[in-house]
Order: sequence, then structure tokens, then C-alpha cells
Amino acid sequence: MPIDATSPYDDQNIFAKILRGEIPCRRVYEDDFALAFHDINPQAPHHLLVIPKGAYVSWDDFSAKASDAEIAGFVRAVGIVARDAGFVAPGYRLLANTGLDAHQEVPHLHVHVFAGRPLGPMLA
Ligand code: IMP
Repeated sequence: MPIDATSPYDDQNIFAKILRGEIPCRRVYEDDFALAFHDINPQAPHHLLVIPKGAYVSWDDFSAKASDAEIAGFVRAVGIVARDAGFVAPGYRLLANTGLDAHQEVPHLHVHVFAGRPLGPMLA
């Protein structure tokens, strides 16, 4: 079910549990600001998720409340993940669904990283 991104942060969401180590993930990268892991239901040959360590529902929530260090750290982490995975030369796609119309399901900011095949034109 898609979530209303204007709702308060729910610390029982699945990515909060992953961050607390309460449920496992297939981790590919972690630093002070971000955690990256494989999506459990991949939509491309390579499908990773990058999440900030702080409690933010969406990109706009993050941009309004996070410190400059958190924002810089998260953006850098997304780039590191893409580079380390070897996605830069063949190409990759970043996606951050937000709220009802975009069908955001997990109410913790996450950036999808898709790669591994021609991804086609962007869908609006
Ligand atoms: P959204 O629709 O942008 O919120 O995407 C949520 C993503 O989280 C989906 O692609 C799910 O497959 C993924 N997901 C849900 N639970 C887990 C999990 O426990 N581990 C890894 N990925 C998950």
C-alpha cells in the first residue's frame, strides 16, 4: 500500500528495522550517513536501495530537516554505491518515489539504483 508522505516518521517501518539490525539485509555499502543493500524484489538485474541513517520519510522531509553534513554524506554515498558497483560506464537509473501518487511503500527515504540492462526511456 502506498503511504502518505506527509505522515510523521514511523520508526516501525521496515527500513528503520534494517538500520537497527532487527531484520537482515544484503548490505553492499555503509558509512556514517547511509546504508545500501539489495532490493528484496529486484526490478532490474541490479537493483540496490540507498537509505539515509536518519529518520526521514521522503526527499523533501530530508531536505527540510537534515543537516548539510547528512545531505552531503547521503548524496556522496549514492555516487559511491553506483561507482563501486561498476554502474557508471554502462549506465544506471536513480529513483525516489514519494507519497501516494508515486506509490511509495516504505516510509523511510530511499533511492532505488537500477542497472544491468537498457532501462528504456524515463517513465513519468
Ligand atoms: P517504494 O515503492 O519506492 O517505497 O519501494 C520500496 C522497495 O523496498 C520495494 O522495491 C521493495 O521490494 C523493497 N523492500 C521492501 N522490503 C524490503 C526488505 O526487507 N529488504 C529489501 N528491500 C525491501
